[in-house]
Amino acid sequence: MSKEENLQCSFCGRKKPETDLLIAGMDAHICDKCIEQAHGIVEEEIAEAKTGGLSKDLTLRKPREIKAFLDQYIIGQDPTKKAMSVAVYNHYKRLLQSKDDADEVEIEKSNIVLVGETGTGKTLVARTIAKMLNVPFSIVDATVLTQAGYVGEDVESILSRLLQAADYDVEKAQQGIIFIDEIDKIARKGDNPSITRDVSGEGVQQALLKLLEGTVVNVAPKGGRKHPDQKFIEVDTKDILFIAGGAFSGIDRIISKRLNMQAVGYSASIDEDKVDEENLLQYIIPSDLKSFGLIPEIIGRLPVLSYMNPLDAKTLRAILTEPKNSIIKQYTKLFAMDDVAFSMTEEALLYIVGKAVEYKLGARGLRSLCEAILTDAMFDMPSSEEKEFKVTKEYAEAKLTKSGLKKLRAAS
Ligand code: ADP
Repeated sequence: MSKEENLQCSFCGRKKPETDLLIAGMDAHICDKCIEQAHGIVEEEIAEAKTGGLSKDLTLRKPREIKAFLDQYIIGQDPTKKAMSVAVYNHYKRLLQSKDDADEVEIEKSNIVLVGETGTGKTLVARTIAKMLNVPFSIVDATVLTQAGYVGEDVESILSRLLQAADYDVEKAQQGIIFIDEIDKIARKGDNPSITRDVSGEGVQQALLKLLEGTVVNVAPKGGRKHPDQKFIEVDTKDILFIAGGAFSGIDRIISKRLNMQAVGYSASIDEDKVDEENLLQYIIPSDLKSFGLIPEIIGRLPVLSYMNPLDAKTLRAILTEPKNSIIKQYTKLFAMDDVAFSMTEEALLYIVGKAVEYKLGARGLRSLCEAILTDAMFDMPSSEEKEFKVTKEYAEAKLTKSGLKKLRAAS
């Protein structure tokens, strides 16, 4: 063998003929593959230094600051925003504690359960919190867990999505947030006649228990640059914040029964403590979730319970224009990119809100309504000379034909 062929990479030991390139240093050599790997490591280190590490960022946010951030994106829902701000603050306090003095008083996890009709902003609140903290965020649908029926695999799939969101950085994923949507759909059937599913949700609830509290799960990475050859990645869920959400439809009857509403109108003392029958969710307590069919252990592991108010016309109107990235602000930006000054009259905005209420489209419907009204203009304006576009109520009415509305209702 020639001397040249005997050379090898001082890092991985590959012989020169096995490499595409072997670069010589003073007393060592490095091959092309090791250079690439080292380059990757350098980039990651730089990126991490830029974000300043996770926990440093987290200590800065006090509950009032968290709420102020949420206020920019979410209209109303003050009780939930407040409860969430405190829960998130405590959660990350707990993370900081677990590093320093683990044997002191142990702070329990503050996983959260949000109860409220669909489209009232449950996902939005969870997503906004994750955005503020700059932690990985993923959404899982609890109904999927029921359908597959087999627990190990599903638990794993919840975490592999979070890993994906964290770009396979395990440390980061372990401090992330998981939103479990439709938690009400895995309620025990027996206690709740509105759930017609055959499979009892109890098994799934049991499987979720460990995950909520904290356990180490082997997760299949499903691709990912960092761990190409690894079969499983161990993910510890003890510091992951879980936020569960559900409509719990019918729970108002349980609350009403508990509040003993039958007495209303007959008792003089009721006046002092007037119950708002329109929005019974505000009186929700953990035992209502139990009556609905969640097992007590699950309720215990979701210690923060909050509710979402239904969206009235005034709130819908505010949602159109007030959030930092409101629908109207987004359209304004889109038109501005074609140098078109876009505006909508107050009557037009109220007309859209009116239709959303009339057709029970909720906040999600606002976007579809705007899209239906503005599509023609977004098609024509970029090629026209017009530099101003003002939507009046008449314009909106003309674009929103009855058939269009029917379609929206069918799609919602
Ligand atoms: P849920 O999870 O309760 O079904 P979402 O969070 O998905 O509801 O809400 C749907 C959409 O409606 C959001 O993306 C947002 O655009 C809008 N929305 C709902 N509630 C609010 C709110 N309170 N403030 C601002 N936007 C809202």
